[in-house]
Amino acid sequence: MTELIEAPPAVQPINHWIGGARREGASGRSGAVYNPATGVQTGAVDFASVAEIDAAVQVAKEAFASWRVLSVARRAELFFRIRELFHAHREDIARILTAEHGKVLSDAMGEVARGLEVIEFCCGIPTLLKGGFTEQASTGIDVYSIRQPLGVVAGITPFNFPAMVPMWMWAPALACGNTFVLKPSEKDPSASVFTAELLKEAGVPDGVFNVVHGDKVAVDALLEHPDVVAISFVGSTPIAKYVYERATERGKRCQALGGAKNHMIVLPDADLDMAADAAVSAGYGSAGERCMAVSMVVAVGNAADDLVAKIKERIPKVKVGDGFDPDAEMGPLVTREHRDRVASYVDKAPAEGATVVVDGREIAPAGDGFFLGPSLLDNVKPEMASYRDEIFGPVLGVTRVDTYDEAVRLVNENPYGNGTAIFTRDGGVARQFQFDVQAGMVGINVPIPVPVAYYSFGGWKSSLFGDRHIYGPEGIDFYTHSKVVTSRWPDPATSKVDLGFPQTR
Ligand code: NAD
Repeated sequence: MTELIEAPPAVQPINHWIGGARREGASGRSGAVYNPATGVQTGAVDFASVAEIDAAVQVAKEAFASWRVLSVARRAELFFRIRELFHAHREDIARILTAEHGKVLSDAMGEVARGLEVIEFCCGIPTLLKGGFTEQASTGIDVYSIRQPLGVVAGITPFNFPAMVPMWMWAPALACGNTFVLKPSEKDPSASVFTAELLKEAGVPDGVFNVVHGDKVAVDALLEHPDVVAISFVGSTPIAKYVYERATERGKRCQALGGAKNHMIVLPDADLDMAADAAVSAGYGSAGERCMAVSMVVAVGNAADDLVAKIKERIPKVKVGDGFDPDAEMGPLVTREHRDRVASYVDKAPAEGATVVVDGREIAPAGDGFFLGPSLLDNVKPEMASYRDEIFGPVLGVTRVDTYDEAVRLVNENPYGNGTAIFTRDGGVARQFQFDVQAGMVGINVPIPVPVAYYSFGGWKSSLFGDRHIYGPEGIDFYTHSKVVTSRWPDPATSKVDLGFPQTR
């Protein structure tokens, strides 16, 4: 009898997208892309050379000339088509995310939905680009402002939201009349190529949206390129700082969003079941690989014992598995190295003096996938590595403090300032918290306060370098120059020019 051996999945080449078509890489360098649920390599992504980056920028520069003169009405019409097409393909995009990132399909669908909101916001581009007008600012003088696109702009994005974070950038950039070069994460790059195909199908002219893959070589080439006038970056803090410094040194406009260590404060009067549910979904959702994930729970006063017990009791109900399994609520981590790094914090916790309440290593599914179950550490102190570092995985820490003031001090003294949340039934304390706390996005009984698309997203301190948050009104601001025109016209009544008709007032 012949034994049936399942063929290993072929390793698919993942190419650049330049000038409206796939472009095979020519550098001879590439990176491995995995299915994190199986640990099997599924793709080989081309890494761009300096010359390939230049080719993409040149194409984008040529496309800018005609893209910027397309009327705002036509661009809005195009964005409605883009919205319809991305909405129709939302599950196709989500499947690509699950296959390369590992997040469960329902979470991937949520990612696409949040990105679609930004595209929908951009359908209103005629209103968003409106300027101001002051008639008779001085006698016979009118003053008005207009917004104009910048030119070729680049986006450099992280692995954890391979569709949504690029949408935060390309949608407002294109709507404002810029052309775009995207350098997505090399860990899960296929969603960006699919995005390019959909934009072409929607009618976006060739060269307006380009994708170049790669590592530091590609990023540095974009930072150095004289024709790239603005850079949007989202990723870890050390790279955000590096990108911001390099870009601004070269006179480019730059917004660089970095890492996070988000604290969720739970006061003794909070609904502890609500808080425990929130801590579990915000700490372990997407395997903790969200920049807005709750990383530290700060339990105030006598909230701690009950809260830790309630979180512990919920953890076994979080089903960890392949993201395509409809019952799975948490998928694998993105790579084996990242999984091992995250697990090392659980390993080191007892020696540092923290208590391991739940060890995720013991509940990870077997096999070669990059799995780690949810872990819970109690009695975590600010000097410990598990407190100081952004772990970026399913490890939730609990810090116990006596007072509200101590809790707020922890948030304010932390070098990151992305998101934070408070759980309480006291409206006055909640209001005081929003006043006191030094972070860009604040939740009141909401653990992941990601702003809706008509506000802007961004943190403070080491979570954002630059002065413009991303998407929403600040996104429009970032992707446009403003120009103010002061105008005077000859008075028709006194004009010496014969207009061919009588001048009367
Ligand atoms: P990362 O910083 O490793 O990579 C981000 C991008 O930078 C990728 O495209 C990568 O190829 C490139 N890059 C990596 N090393 C580089 C180097 N030495 N020089 C130049 N470019 C380099 O981040 P990641 O691991 O992909 O993503 C996770 C991080 O992103 C976390 O820190 C997370 O908090 C952060 N993040 C922040 C936000 C936010 O809005 N603040 C959103 C999502 C993710």
